This record gives sequence, structure tokens and C-alpha cells, in this order.
Amino acid sequence: MSSPCLFSRRFAALPQAFYSYVTPQPLDNTRWVVWNSELACQFELPSNAPNGELKQILSGEQISQDAPPLAMKYAGHQFGAYNPDLGDGRGVLLGELTNQTNDVFDLHLKGAGLTPYSRMGDGRAVLRSTIREYLCSEAMAGLGIPTTRSLGMLVSDTPVYREKCEQGALLLRLARSHIRFGHFEHFFYTNQLTHLQQLADKVIEWYWPDCLESEKPYLRMFEHIVSRTAEMIAQWQACGFAHGVMNTDNMSIIGETFDYGPFGFLDDYEPGYICNHSDYQGRYAFDQQPRIALWNLSALAHSLSPLIEREDLEASLANFEPLLVKTFSRLMRQKLGLYNKQKVDTQLFSAMFELLHQHQIDYTRFMRELSSVDQGGINGVLDLFIDRAEASHWLEQYLARCEQEVDETGHQVSCQARCEKMRQVNPKYILRNYLAQIAIDKAEQGDFSEVQTLAELLKRPFDEQAEMSAYANLPPDWGKKMEISCSS
Ligand code: AMP
Ligand code: MG
Repeated sequence: MSSPCLFSRRFAALPQAFYSYVTPQPLDNTRWVVWNSELACQFELPSNAPNGELKQILSGEQISQDAPPLAMKYAGHQFGAYNPDLGDGRGVLLGELTNQTNDVFDLHLKGAGLTPYSRMGDGRAVLRSTIREYLCSEAMAGLGIPTTRSLGMLVSDTPVYREKCEQGALLLRLARSHIRFGHFEHFFYTNQLTHLQQLADKVIEWYWPDCLESEKPYLRMFEHIVSRTAEMIAQWQACGFAHGVMNTDNMSIIGETFDYGPFGFLDDYEPGYICNHSDYQGRYAFDQQPRIALWNLSALAHSLSPLIEREDLEASLANFEPLLVKTFSRLMRQKLGLYNKQKVDTQLFSAMFELLHQHQIDYTRFMRELSSVDQGGINGVLDLFIDRAEASHWLEQYLARCEQEVDETGHQVSCQARCEKMRQVNPKYILRNYLAQIAIDKAEQGDFSEVQTLAELLKRPFDEQAEMSAYANLPPDWGKKMEISCSS
């Protein structure tokens, strides 16, 4: 069936070497699990989950002959080894949509069937993993962390076989870009240097036109990529997010958190936390993420070497760590309410991380309790510890340091003013893996209410939402440090 065109088509204007046209294979009896009204409205789409023709277009059941969906070609380093055979193996780019502020977004449909890049896969996505991606991308957006977004999710009666038989689902993903580090790697390793340059030109045109004012536009582009990546990773580390599969094909060129799989938020503060069940070596452990991001940027730099001089690439890579440390320190200062820099602060910060690690204290809860000492005093913090003495010792030092904080006018910052600001950066609610699991278990029984509840809750993670406080509780024993299967 053919339909009028809803989308603009800028990626499709590139040569065929960049993608393959694909006809989505519809799923049986699709129905909405959740529709993101707020996001839909930004694109002047209906606020209620659409039916009729629009639903058919969005679920890949009806396509425009003028604008057939396409699967992008890319490659990538997976767990450190180069794989030339990647690409959208189960997703298609439906086209681009423009929002009310004139920003262009890709609309990608995940789970739409086989493509030329499916390899041994079936082209499908299961309900379980689709719920996880939907909820986490929206939770990250709520936290203010750069991320792809989710417009909606559909479930179907099509069986999909993983470790067991599951329900096939579809995710509608919106992103400023679906271009990955691996796009550049593909053209470099296949020696298609004209296309490599063409891709860089498009990245500059679409995302960073300011590069054209530079004497070295491609270098300027790479500098943008380095700084965006550093900022994203600093935000992950500050909020306790572990991605789980930082392969270069899962790294967005514009530094958005991308391709949610076996991710996890820290419960107890455990720097070596590995959320991915298949990551036997801990390559993608929480505390390895900064190092791996630099590794990935170096892989990208190698692929950009035909366009940028080696010394320039090296100098740019050398900026990564200082940029990351600077952003991370700024974020931690905000989290602790300490804006006036003092030498002792570094020691105070490391003592805090050490304390949390040694006593296995829940990271999110600790930071939130620390942000609430104006309301319930220090007991909320101390109650998290079995050994309160060491915690008291750190807390005394911290509170004494807080008393030295002054605002722009030179006045001492009150405890209440500090805490109010801290509560705007220390979330009460995060998407703990056990919460996602409860929502998945219900959804697999046909009850989507918990998915919808979490989606709403996590939009405003910093607000008290007192009636929802149970969602801020510590995880039950079965839900701690969950390792998530890669199957999706
Ligand atoms: P991911 O682990 O989801 O980042 O995917 C890595 C690569 O495998 C990408 O090229 C995906 O498109 C592809 N892929 C993952 N799952 C499937 C599947 N069920 N069917 C086809 N391709 C898949
Ligand atoms: Mg991927």
C-alpha cells in the first residue's frame, strides 16, 4: 500500500553505498504498549496513540513509494575486534521528521524484519528488550543526559524465538543522528575514501556547520565528537549509568547515549560493576567506560586519518581526558552542592567514593539523602550505613565544608538553599533493573500499566512525587546487581 509522504529524506539523498532500501515485514496484530504524547506533540503528531493510516505507516505496514524505508550500512569494533558485516540488521530509517524548533530527527523503526545486514538474525526485537530501551532512553532524557528518544512502542502476536518464545515488538526511535563511529569505519576499511569524505561533509552540514569557518573543518568536526563524547561519558559516570556494550557501532557520532541493551544503573556503589552477562572480561564495566570511550575515539580517529593529519588527531584525542575530568568534576560539585572550589574538595570526593564502595552503599539513595539533610537531618544518610561511625566522620567534614560556601553576593549559602539545588541534580528515581523487570513481567502477561507508570515517573526523576516513593526504595535482594542477557 502506498501513502503520502510524512517524512523528509536527507539520508536517502546519499548514494546507495550508504544503505539499502528495505520493505519492512509487518508483525501480526500490532497494538500500542505506550505512546509518548509529549514527544509526539513536539513533532505535531497526535497526542493520543494513532490509529488508521498513521499507525500503519509508523508500524511499517504501509510505506510510501516515494520514500521507501532504508537500512543503513555500518561496521564496527565489537569487544575490540573489527566486524565489517554490520548495519541495521533489524531496523529501518523511516525518514526524517522536523520538530517545532526546526531540528531534524531520524525516525527509526526497530524490529521491522530482515535487511541485507541481518546476518544470522531474524530481524526482530522482543517485547522485553523493547521495553528496556523505551524506558531507559526516556529515563536518561529525564535526567538531562544526551540520548536517543522513544516515540512509541508496539507489541504483536508474532512469536520471536530467543532463549524462549517471546512476543515480537517494535520501537519507534527518534534521534538527531543515527550515524555511528562504525559508519566511518566501514568506508575506511573498504577503502571508499570518497564516501568517507562525503559522510564527513554531511556530518558537518547537518550537525556542526560552524566547522566550515575553520581552516581545518574535518579536524574541527573530530574535536566536536571528542568533546560531546567526553561530556556524555562524564554524565554517565556522575549518575552511575553503565551502558554495557560500548562497541563502536553503538557510539553515536553526536555523543548521544545510543542502542540500549544490557545497561544498568548502579545500586550499591561498585566501580567494577558489569551489567552485561556476556562481558566475561569486564571490558565494559562501569569504571572502564572513560577508557573505552577513548579507545573508541582512537578507532574513529584511525578511520578519519585520510581526512585529518595524524598530529592533529593525536592532539585532539589528548584533550579527551581533561575534558571528561573537567565535566565530571563540575557535575560532582553540583551533586554535592559545592560550587566554590577548594583544594580539600578532591580529597573529600575520593573519601566519599571510598566510603560508599567499602560499605556497599546505594549511590542514588545516598546522594538524594545528602540532598535532603535540610528536611530530615543527617539520619537519612546515616541510616544507610550499618557502621555509622565512619559515615559520621565523613559527613562532619562535608557539612563543615558546606558552611564555607558563599553565593555571588558573598553570603553564606544556607543548608536549605544548597539542598534545594542539590535535589535538582540528584534524582530520587532511576530505572533500576529490577523495576524494569517487574514492568516486563507484567507486560508479558498483557498488562502494560507498569510500563506506562514508569515512563511517567521517570520523566520527572528529580521531583518528590511523594505518592510514588516506593519506587525510590532500595532494590530487593533478587534485584541487586542484575546481569542482563545480551539477547534482545
Ligand atoms: P546490537 O548488539 O543490538 O548493537 O547489534 C549488533 C548488530 O547485530 C547490528 O548490526 C544489529 O542490527 C544486528 N542485530 C542484532 N539483533 C539482530 C536480530 N535479531 N536480527 C538481525 N540483526 C540483528
Ligand atoms: Mg547496536
